[in-house]
Amino acid sequence: MTARMAECIPLLPVEELARRRRRQESKVGEIWALLDEVMDPEIPVISLYELGVLQDVSCEGDTVKLVLTPTYIGCPALGIMEEDARAALAAGGYDQVVVETRLAPAWTTAWLTPEARRKMTSYGVASAEAGDIGCPQCGSENTQVISEFGSTACKALFRCLACQEPFDVFKAI
Ligand SMILES: [Zn+2]
Repeated sequence: MTARMAECIPLLPVEELARRRRRQESKVGEIWALLDEVMDPEIPVISLYELGVLQDVSCEGDTVKLVLTPTYIGCPALGIMEEDARAALAAGGYDQVVVETRLAPAWTTAWLTPEARRKMTSYGVASAEAGDIGCPQCGSENTQVISEFGSTACKALFRCLACQEPFDVFKAI
């Protein structure tokens, strides 16, 4: 293995690499781009693509097909994501949309891009996958879990013992 190759082997799961390749090689890049406007309803600075929920986009005739993988099974935000995606596509002139929910492979926090993690932290939601849970307000790692369930079931509620601020943590799943 050359050094160059080693550089190219990122710390991304194979599913995430395959997803990026699907987008790169897609013939409907403009539809992916339209969907970049669709944000996670719970963390509205991260798009469905960055979150890893938008898995695939294809087009058959006039019908656009989306494949979505929810962040966890039964995530109530999925319905909102689907509606928002349909609205964004309708605004771009695509009225006929079929949405497939794909549960396997299951979404994991490992699919979050470094960019998505950074945005999440600046929005005030920490990511459990990042190791020690640092406070998004002051950066202190002197934090404690208050509740396994934060503002939504996929987040836990933490408190920072340095600045006393409570904050949500996206659970590593
Ligand atoms: Zn703090």
